[in-house]
Amino acid sequence: MKHKQTKTCTYTEITAITCDICRRATSGEVWTNSDKIYGAGKTQVFLEIGEYLPDCSNGELIEFDICPDCFRDKLMPVLQALGAKPTISEWDR
Ligand SMILES: [Zn+2]
Repeated sequence: MKHKQTKTCTYTEITAITCDICRRATSGEVWTNSDKIYGAGKTQVFLEIGEYLPDCSNGELIEFDICPDCFRDKLMPVLQALGAKPTISEWDR
């Protein structure tokens, strides 16, 4: 005999992202724009710093949500003006 119990789990879903620079928003967690070079895109700009211990870690996460247009047109030129060179690689999944 199987004894069953219905359980409910909760999770957090990203339903939209607003660009911290231009305020354009997604509907979901992926940037889309059929008029641009990308059909969909993800960006990540964050700093995670803290103490990483075997049984407990804690720290601070600083994030910027930036759309692909602002990443290419606004953030990249600033970083490159500071001397940073991007690592660019192809991906195929
Ligand atoms: Zn933007």
